[in-house]
Amino acid sequence: MTAAALAKLLPHRCTVHLVESETIGIVGVGEATLPHIRAFNERLGISEAEFMSSTRATFKLGIEFKNWGAIGDSYIHPFGTFGDGQSEIGFHHYWTRLRLAGRPVGSLDEYSMGVMAGRLNRFQLPEKDHESIASTFGYAYQFDATLFAPFLRRLAESMGARRTEGRVVGVDRNGESGDIESITMESGEVIEGDLFVDCSGFISLLLGKALGEPFRDWSRWLPADSAVAMPCRTETSLTPYTSAIAMPSGWRWRIPLQHRTGNGYVYSSAFTSDEAARDALVDAVEGEPIADPRVLRFVAGRRERSWAHNCVAVGLASGFLEPLESTSIYLIQQAITYLVELFPEKRISPVDRDEFNRLIDLEYDRIRDFLILHYHATTRSDTPFWDYVRTMDLPSTLSEKIDLFRRRGRIVKYREGVFLEASWVAVYIGQNIFPEGHDARAGVLPIGEVADRAEALRSRIRAAAEAMPDHAAYIRSYCAMAEAA
Ligand SMILES: Cc1cc2nc3c(=O)[nH]c(=O)nc-3n(C[C@H](O)[C@H](O)[C@H](O)COP(=O)(O)OP(=O)(O)OC[C@H]3O[C@@H](n4cnc5c(N)ncnc54)[C@H](O)[C@@H]3O)c2cc1C
Repeated sequence: MTAAALAKLLPHRCTVHLVESETIGIVGVGEATLPHIRAFNERLGISEAEFMSSTRATFKLGIEFKNWGAIGDSYIHPFGTFGDGQSEIGFHHYWTRLRLAGRPVGSLDEYSMGVMAGRLNRFQLPEKDHESIASTFGYAYQFDATLFAPFLRRLAESMGARRTEGRVVGVDRNGESGDIESITMESGEVIEGDLFVDCSGFISLLLGKALGEPFRDWSRWLPADSAVAMPCRTETSLTPYTSAIAMPSGWRWRIPLQHRTGNGYVYSSAFTSDEAARDALVDAVEGEPIADPRVLRFVAGRRERSWAHNCVAVGLASGFLEPLESTSIYLIQQAITYLVELFPEKRISPVDRDEFNRLIDLEYDRIRDFLILHYHATTRSDTPFWDYVRTMDLPSTLSEKIDLFRRRGRIVKYREGVFLEASWVAVYIGQNIFPEGHDARAGVLPIGEVADRAEALRSRIRAAAEAMPDHAAYIRSYCAMAEAA
């Protein structure tokens, strides 16, 4: 992603030399994304139909969370809004008013176009007309990362990036400044550079190992440190959403692609063994397995600085937050965006570097709080794992947000970053944190009128979702366009 973006967007500023090793390979498990990836693909001139077809992708309207607030609970965190998006305050304020008045308001899910289409396995691209209820949802993709990587490599090379295949075995630094001057390949080749982008994955070869940038460990809040992954054939319907199903010591993902379904159990090794996790995953998958279970290890957290000296870490080399909200590829994309915006001229300016690090820290910190909320907002006490996360101390930045929402449904607003109002509302209410009041503006109309409008909205959303095509059929016709072109 980085090589393709730099080659495409800054051809006058840099020549890109991509170094990677087929023998080491990629981690290969990133399959679910956030809607921002569409903007990334567009900037690179990637046609959506070609991307869908080449990476065997499906559309994603959100994430279904099962058994999180309590066993038996289920909600979808949708991309897009609740309500019709026409009011100056969030729809959840009206919903709360009706709920507090004891009106039969139903579940908040029923007021989201994305959720309703997802529940019915329907999909079509959102309408462009903002007045239309069918414009109120967003979407992302679920795709095969092992197909996306070579797709991007070809793209990067077609835009002038040079590629060297092989293993990096040495890193040389300037004795005075400490900057990286070159890397040495196993073949003996020495590759020099002015700026090094470390995309080496968990090993963090340049930033972590060579420069020794410290790692900020967040495992006390996010104790999952392992995952076992095992794809299977897709034998059930093609859901336009990712599922995150809470398990005794973590949670399980289910990501349907056109040609297979990705499955994995993310767990904490302090609370369960690899064998027990593997057995639980094998028992739970719905189709015939097509590979053996594979265990991966990680630690939640990030490097203190993502950019130090003349080295910028992107992706897992910079940090990792578990895939509960599909944020890693998003973080890669943000790092690339900020790097392009702050790309050095002749010399690296400490001011630009500090700004890059500030922006990346904000992204990580917000995602961290959002993920912790999923674990903490539970009444589950059926296993030691759920007891731990339910009762753990929270970062103050998160407990303040929860208090604010409980008081009257207020969401802390951001100018930049991911997970805006509807996302937080979905998780709070989906996991049974209800506001005790609402925004004063939701009290203007008489309650009967609010109830009538809500009911009309609910019917409108349901009818619009039912009118959409089946997700699998839509993908078939969409990809046929790429194949015909
Ligand atoms: C269990 C799990 C599930 C995940 N699910 C999702 C998800 O649903 N959505 C999402 O957005 N993200 C997800 N992620 C994260 C996602 O997999 C990564 O963000 C993404 O794959 C990018 O990884 P990367 O490029 O940083 O590292 P990698 O994929 O590990 O790539 C590292 C690259 O560096 C090269 N390399 C390493 N060492 C050397 C060396 N010595 N010499 C030469 N080359 C070298 C490798 O060959 C490879 O090309 C998940 C991660 C895990 C662990």
